[in-house]
Amino acid sequence: LTFEQLELDPILVRALTRMGYAKPTTIQSQVIPEAMSGRDIMASAPTGTGKTAAFLLPACQHLLDFPRRQAGPARVLVLTPTRELAKQIGDDAKAMLQDTQLRVEVITGGVKADAHLPALTKTTDIVVATPGRLLQYIEEESFDSRDIELLILDEADRMLDMGFINDVDRIAAEARWRRQTMLFSATLEGKGLMSFANELLKEAVKIT
Ligand code: AMP
Repeated sequence: LTFEQLELDPILVRALTRMGYAKPTTIQSQVIPEAMSGRDIMASAPTGTGKTAAFLLPACQHLLDFPRRQAGPARVLVLTPTRELAKQIGDDAKAMLQDTQLRVEVITGGVKADAHLPALTKTTDIVVATPGRLLQYIEEESFDSRDIELLILDEADRMLDMGFINDVDRIAAEARWRRQTMLFSATLEGKGLMSFANELLKEAVKIT
């Protein structure tokens, strides 16, 4: 299977070639078609399997398929537990979108608030964030979540273990106009994770 056969835009396939991604990993082949059909996704995918591109590529394809008509806040929101993961995901998204006009911003703790001004005030397509700092901006009404179409929860089990469940719930409630939710987790076990998933996902396709 190739990335072309997954019906990704040539602009993305070229970027993947530049990044050294010759063909999809197993999780990418499984997730990308389901995600592009618009269904909610629940996938067990440990780090190292290529899970980041499995959720970023359908998100990028959606943004290319449905260009925005006017300036506005983020349409894709990725939540991830740590600053390092947020930066890595942001860098991957920027590399995939290098030949487009689409914008990616990262919002995490540990940096001065003015570093986030572009993410909060300019037109942005993808925001990658850790839950705590993003919720702070939502509460201050400086982050506008009304345009979020796609919500992605990366390493959901770790977010739960780190005590982010209430923050993620609050953010998901803010993103209530979304049309699709994807949850990625190292495992899909445990009562906490399953009830969290049941609450946030609708008729999700389960991929293991
Ligand atoms: P991840 O599981 O998303 O953390 O990805 C693990 C590593 O695999 C990262 O260094 C990615 O850059 C790399 N990677 C992801 N997808 C592919 C692919 N299709 N071909 C080659 N490398 C990949």
